[in-house]
Amino acid sequence: MSNVECDEIINRLTSMLPAERPIALHEPTLGQLEENFTKDCLRSGWISTAGAYVDRFEKELAHFCGIEHAIATVNGTSALHTCIVLAGVKANDEVLVPALTFVGTLNPIAYQQAIPHLLDCEKSTLGIDPEKLDQHLQRIAEIKNGTCINRQTGRTIRALVVVHILGIPANMPALARIAEQWNLILIEDAAESLGSFRDQRHTGDWAQLSALSFNGNKIISSGGGGAVLTKNSELAAQARHISTTAKQPHSWDFIHDKVGYNYRLPNLNAALACAQLQRLPEHLSNKRKLYRKYRETFSDIETAKIHQPPEALQCNHWLNLLLLSDKNNRDLLLQEAHAQGLLLRPLWNPMQQLPMYAQCPSDDLSTTQQLWETGICLPSSPGLAA
Ligand SMILES: *Cc1c(COP(=O)(O)O)cnc(C)c1O
Repeated sequence: MSNVECDEIINRLTSMLPAERPIALHEPTLGQLEENFTKDCLRSGWISTAGAYVDRFEKELAHFCGIEHAIATVNGTSALHTCIVLAGVKANDEVLVPALTFVGTLNPIAYQQAIPHLLDCEKSTLGIDPEKLDQHLQRIAEIKNGTCINRQTGRTIRALVVVHILGIPANMPALARIAEQWNLILIEDAAESLGSFRDQRHTGDWAQLSALSFNGNKIISSGGGGAVLTKNSELAAQARHISTTAKQPHSWDFIHDKVGYNYRLPNLNAALACAQLQRLPEHLSNKRKLYRKYRETFSDIETAKIHQPPEALQCNHWLNLLLLSDKNNRDLLLQEAHAQGLLLRPLWNPMQQLPMYAQCPSDDLSTTQQLWETGICLPSSPGLAA
């Protein structure tokens, strides 16, 4: 790509985006509703880890997702950690995860002294490639006494964590089948995919345990926040228990029956979350508009294409992805765009590039590598659709 082509891409972005600079990658939309709810919460005095807004948010969230139970947590990482603990992931277990994800997917595995096992993604959904995973397991794994064992390391492969990258639902029917066939506990990291459905099912509905995030840059934000989703009432009760320091309900006694976590969402954040959840339908429609606008803007350029998720998926379009021809072009565009106040970002550095995960067992990761070298995330705040 020449400087001229780079300028052409920036011109097209400039022509469709508002004039103010800088334009961030993703910003929360806050207004009167958020002010009213948080003010009400402050006046009530109930700002900490219990209160009416927490209960209300959990009910409304579960209802929106069509999944029986939602347990609100301080962030997405703690929600995922709760899932990993409840799945029974132990020290020295391996857990299958995509290499193309945010580091928050892998850290909770490491918290348990378990070992992430890195998988490649497919281009269409950006999620774990089911065919490649199937071939990889046939090559390296076997089932012994009902447990999936990595023949190369001798370790148990306990679970499969699927991530819905940039909000695009991964190929859950195929991945759930593989998990069942290999006796793997299935977990969904749906941190990016609130409002994304596949076959009329919300992401997170295939697994027994899944996690959402309401961090500042997600499709809705409670400042910080997350949630565990589950259909299983027993797992829901356990998730509540271990995220509330494993304290048994009692009027005055402090009885904690195991090592728990202080992971519950404060009521003040839940007030914000309730307001934001009301905006979600509007955000989803704005994001769909913005995605179409981007697609249109880049439809006749050869060297820069908007990634298009399969049409059958109902996608929240959390972040829009522009694909260039190589890494030099990607870096050139990033540099030029930042100089002009357009805060584009690359995809996350693939997990094998990070020092703490460089030695993890892994499949071939060529598609991950290629997407990372050529992909650029475009500003995607819902407000940009206007
Ligand atoms: C944001 C995110 C997380 C972690 O959520 P936090 O609320 O930031 O802790 C985990 N996984 C993925 C894929 C994410 O995008």
